[in-house]
Amino acid sequence: MTPSLGRHIIVNYHYIRDKAQTPFQGIHACAPDLFRRQIAYLKKNYTIALFGDVYEAAKQGSAESMAAITFDDGFRDHLEIALPALKNAGIRGTFFPVTLPWEGKIPAPYKLHILLSHLPAEELIARFEIYMKREGREGAIPRDHRINEQRRFDDALTSNLKETLMRLDDETKTGFLNEVFRSLFADEAAETRKLFMTTEEIKLLVREGMEIGSHTHTHISLESAPADAQTDEITKGHRFLEDALRIRLTSFSYPHGRWNDATQHILQALGIKRAAILGACAVEASTSIYEIPRYDANDLLV
Ligand SMILES: [Zn+2]
Repeated sequence: MTPSLGRHIIVNYHYIRDKAQTPFQGIHACAPDLFRRQIAYLKKNYTIALFGDVYEAAKQGSAESMAAITFDDGFRDHLEIALPALKNAGIRGTFFPVTLPWEGKIPAPYKLHILLSHLPAEELIARFEIYMKREGREGAIPRDHRINEQRRFDDALTSNLKETLMRLDDETKTGFLNEVFRSLFADEAAETRKLFMTTEEIKLLVREGMEIGSHTHTHISLESAPADAQTDEITKGHRFLEDALRIRLTSFSYPHGRWNDATQHILQALGIKRAAILGACAVEASTSIYEIPRYDANDLLV
C-alpha cells in the first residue's frame, strides 16, 4: 500500500525548535519531539534514501516506497537536533546551508525573522513605510489583501511584508533591515553564531555521512534577480562550500523555492545535477530533475 503522501517523497525542514521558546511563531518551527516522531514515521513507512536516489526511484517507477529528508539554510538546529536523531535512526539526510553566515552576517530573510520575534509586524511595517518615505520611495504595504497566496503559513500582514521586501532591490532591502537590526543588536557576528552552523560544524555533518548541497550565498530570490546576479550568488554559495569541505557538490535547493528561465542553465554550468523546489507533492516519473518537489514538515501530520 502506498502511504498517503505518495510513494516517492521528500520532506524538507527549516527551523527545528520548541514553539514555546520561539518568540516569532511565523518561522513555523517544527518542534523537536514532532521532528523525532516524523523521522520514526518515515522510517516505518519508507526506505530512507538521499533525495537524488528518491528521484531515480520515481523516474524508474520503482514499487518501493522511498523517502528523503532535507534541511534548508544551515541552522544550528540541524546540528543540535536533526543530526543526533538521524544518527540514532541510522539514516542520512541532505543539508543545504547558505554561506553568508561564514562572513559573520545574517542573510536578509532570517534577519527579518529575528526582527519579527522582537517587534510586532505592524510596528515593523510602520518603520518600513517611514524608511521608504525618507528615501523618497513608494513603499506602502497593503493591509486588506494578500500580495501572494503562495505563502501558505503566514498571516496576511507578515506575508505582505516579506513579499514587499523580497521584491525590493538589495540595497534598499538590506539598508532597511540593517538599520532596524542595529537598533536592537550591537553585534551581528554574535547573533549569526547563535543561529547558523560554522564551517567546522558543517564539516562534522560530512564526517557523519550527511550529504551537503548549496542554497546560494545570501538566500536571494532568484526569480526576480538578473542572470549575472544569480550566477554570482549561486557560484559563491557553491564554491564556498566546495572549497571548505573539499568535496564536489551536485545538489541544490532554490531559496524560497523560486527560480526563473536563467537559473537552471547556471546550475548546469556549475555541475549541479539536481535541484529541489518546495511543491508540497510526491516525486513522479515525469518530474524534472531541476524541479524535484518536497513536502514541508508542516504537511506531515503524524
Ligand atoms: Zn532557504
